[in-house]
This record gives sequence, C-alpha cells and structure tokens, in this order.
Amino acid sequence: MTELRIPPARVVFSAADRARVLELVDRSLQTGSLTLGPVGAAFEKAFAASHGAEHAVATSSGTSALEIVIRGLGLTGEIIVPANTFFATAAAVTHAGAAPRFADVDHSTLSLSAATVEAALTAETTAVIVVHIGGLISPEMDAIAKLCQARGVALIEDAAHAHGSTLAGRHAGAWGQAATFSFYPTKVVAGAEGGMIVTADPDLAAEARIYRDQGKAGFHGGAHVRLGSAWRMSEVHAAVGLVHHDRLPDAVATRRRIARLYDKALAGLDGVSVLPEPAGAQGCYYKYIALLDPDVERDGLRGALRNDHGVALSGEVYARPLHHEPIFAEVPHGDLSGAEDVCARHICLPIHSDMTDEEAAVVVEALRDALPRARGLHQQ
Ligand SMILES: *Cc1c(COP(=O)(O)O)cnc(C)c1O
Repeated sequence: MTELRIPPARVVFSAADRARVLELVDRSLQTGSLTLGPVGAAFEKAFAASHGAEHAVATSSGTSALEIVIRGLGLTGEIIVPANTFFATAAAVTHAGAAPRFADVDHSTLSLSAATVEAALTAETTAVIVVHIGGLISPEMDAIAKLCQARGVALIEDAAHAHGSTLAGRHAGAWGQAATFSFYPTKVVAGAEGGMIVTADPDLAAEARIYRDQGKAGFHGGAHVRLGSAWRMSEVHAAVGLVHHDRLPDAVATRRRIARLYDKALAGLDGVSVLPEPAGAQGCYYKYIALLDPDVERDGLRGALRNDHGVALSGEVYARPLHHEPIFAEVPHGDLSGAEDVCARHICLPIHSDMTDEEAAVVVEALRDALPRARGLHQQ
C-alpha cells in the first residue's frame, strides 16, 4: 500500500498554541480550579461573541448539549431528526425522554427542507432538530423556522459541523431556540471533548447551567431541582477549546480556499458533481461533500485513492442512514429516498485547517486517475 500522503483529517495545534494550552492548564492546577472555572467562562464568552449569541453554556460534549437543550425546553412527544445524521442526534432525543421521528433530506444540501419537515410533522411533534451537514447552513432555514413557529413546535440546530458558518451573515443558533456545538477532535474547533449551547433565551441558558451540574440550583451547593447529570466542561478541556477557538477564522478561511479549488477541479471531472454553495451561505467546510454518479463504486474509489495514491477520503456524513441502525429499528418515518440516495452516493474529500494548495492538487490528481477506474469496476 502507498504511504499515506493526505490523511482524512488533521488536528492542528501550533507550538505556540500548545504552549498556551499548557500555561492555562498549569494555572488551573495551581489554583485547583479544575471544572466550571475562569477558563470555561472565558471560552463561553469568546464563543458567544464569535457566534453572535446572547448566551453560551459549555458542556461535556455535543451529545450532552443536545440532551440538555431538549430537557431544558421541557420537550416530550416526538422530535423530528434527519435520517442522515450522527447517532447522537437521535440518541439524545431518546435519552431526554422524547421520541425521534426520521425525516428525509434535500439533495442539494443533505439537510432538512421545509418540505421534508412538513411531510414528517404529526400531531405528536414538539420539535425539529436541523443538522447543518458538513457545515452548510441551508437557505431553507428561514422557511423551516417559519413553519415551526406556525405549528408551535421548537426548532433546535445541531451545529456540531458548523463552527463559524453563516447564512446571510447569521451564525447557527439564529433560527432555533438554541444551537449545539461539539469539540470532538475531528470538529473544526477541537477541545479533546466538549460541547457548547448557544441561545438568545436567558431562561434556557439558566436551565442549561442547572442541568449540566447534576441539576443543582447553584454551583456551591443548593438543592437538586432537575434530573441533570455530570455534563460539565472541565477547565482542561476548556483550555484546549479556548485556544483552538482563537484559530477558527483562519481555519475557516483555509477550508474555504481549498473548497473553491476543489469546486473548480471537480467541475472538469466525469463521474462526480459538486454541491455548489448556495448564495448567501458561507460554510466552514467541516466536510467537503461531492456526489458520485450512480455508476461509480464508492468503496472501489476509496480503495484506489488510498492504495494507489495515499489519499484517504474523510468519513461520510453519513454512509448509513439512522433508520438502518438496529437500535433505531422502531423509530417511525415516511419516505426517506432522498436520504438513502445521498448516503449511498456522496464522498467527503480530505480537507484540513492547514491544508496547502499543493495537497489539494494531489487529491485532485488522484481523483482524476481513480474515478474512471471506479466506474469501470462497477460495470464489470
Ligand atoms: C459530533 C456530533 C455530535 C456529538 O458530539 P460529541 O461531542 O461527540 O458528543 C452530534 N451531532 C453531530 C451531527 C455530530 O457530528
């Protein structure tokens, strides 16, 4: 097998950033303030500022952030989630005591549209969770928010892919009651582990602070007033996330530059099509998504890129829709043919926050060679 030249993802911390993390951690160790301390508070403040949010509440993970929002809004009944999302989006709904229902997605964004939400709404629906797949905030958000308001259901944005992304200049969280972010290592802002809730609602922010700390009314004691859990962010994680978050503008700029190079190059290749960025959207390109023609075999393409060129495709978002997961076999849904199709046909080209134009060119050349052969494979 050819040596790996372009990895599927890369976590980027400069020497200066690593030193700053260590300095913050050293201070925490000296003061003994190891969780819910000044570093976490600084991270919340910085994240709220960069995402145009009134309030930001740091949590242990993107998953707990979602569960906290659902619990904090008091949602029971049925919550609509797209069929092509990460396991955690639907699992958080169940953990919070509500029931997921899967909805179909649009081909051009891989996300919910007003039409697919409308088709999934039932008398039991209490909320819709939109997932900004790959970091793209769909132009459908205005219509989805309007529909949710008209039907009296809450709107939550799972923004685990969408750090720094905007639509018409507005960040994730501008449409829903809240947006949740993840700082899992592969995400555009990494905190080792961690999550963030952003909201304009002061009551929800206050609820989130109670839920994340075992449902206690106050940090220094107080009665347990909610069924919270150990959903705090430690100061060590906050240090990593705070430092990495400072690099977000550069990371997004680099990813967008690479995305435009890929757009241009893929336009000249047979067998694959670009998902053009809609007018007004400025995604962070957590993933660079392209759609393969039905006659291209994805596994064959992945193998050829890796074995012959040392280029590793990034993980799909997602290859297997959630209604195919055994644990969700009982979850109700209608027609999911859009999700089935995009799940089967899309690829994610490697894209990193420090990627060079030369590296992108290696990926393009590898595709130019491997794509025709992956089509040939399929025809045999
Ligand atoms: C990563 C991710 C999550 C979960 O975040 P964790 O921090 O790993 O708990 C939730 N939803 C989506 C869409 C994700 O990509």
